[in-house]
Amino acid sequence: MNEAVLLLILAVSFLGWKTKNLSGSGAIAAFFTGITVVSAFGWRGLVVLGAFFGTSSLWSKFRSSAKAEIEKKLAKTSERDWQQVLANGGSALIFSLLYIITDDAIYMLGAISSLAAANADTWASEIGPLSKSDPISIRNLARVEKGSSGAVSLLGTLASLAGSLLIALVSILLFKEISIISAILITCAGFFGSLADTMLGAYLQIEYRCHRCGLVTESPEHCGVKAEGLKGFSFINNEFVNFSASFLAGFLTIMISNVIR
Ligand SMILES: [Zn+2]
Repeated sequence: MNEAVLLLILAVSFLGWKTKNLSGSGAIAAFFTGITVVSAFGWRGLVVLGAFFGTSSLWSKFRSSAKAEIEKKLAKTSERDWQQVLANGGSALIFSLLYIITDDAIYMLGAISSLAAANADTWASEIGPLSKSDPISIRNLARVEKGSSGAVSLLGTLASLAGSLLIALVSILLFKEISIISAILITCAGFFGSLADTMLGAYLQIEYRCHRCGLVTESPEHCGVKAEGLKGFSFINNEFVNFSASFLAGFLTIMISNVIR
């Protein structure tokens, strides 16, 4: 690996920690994800990863005051720890490792599709809450508070599609291995991954209600007291859902590519 690229990954991880976008463990996880993706796909892989990381950070800062209420609903702060980093980048890391081991281009499609899904989901959750109307729960089609898991809005859905498309466009420009068909497949898989994320969020993800203030949250504790379980499985948190959805997107692309190649 080129020393300049190595230093760049180190610098970005360090800056992520310095600017409180990443916790210490998050910075280490980001560093290793970056190293693995670059080992597999060279600097081009880093550009795709950067497109995800960069646009996600930008959208998260965009009109952040309007989204401050939603932050409270989520169990964690905006400083990402290793679990949150691997929830989004872990699938790309696994497919990159498989690519290094097998040298089969199909795993490149898998890695890029899982990043497309992660980007689609992040764009949807950063842009969707800026919608004027409240989102609709896919469980009962009722309007629910912004930031609720398993809820959709038109703006969020369009943002998800755009987020997936961006990763496909960046990839087709960078890699000669990516055909137009592959790019379409990546866009669809990323979008599908984001839908799967919503479905898992709606039906399986853990949700608690605080006894004191009534807030529905992912955190098992709120206002200093134990919160009441509303639905879902305790081990299925937002990170688990993100990881599963992005992995599913990569897996789906690999399966379809296997059939059509
Ligand atoms: Zn509370």
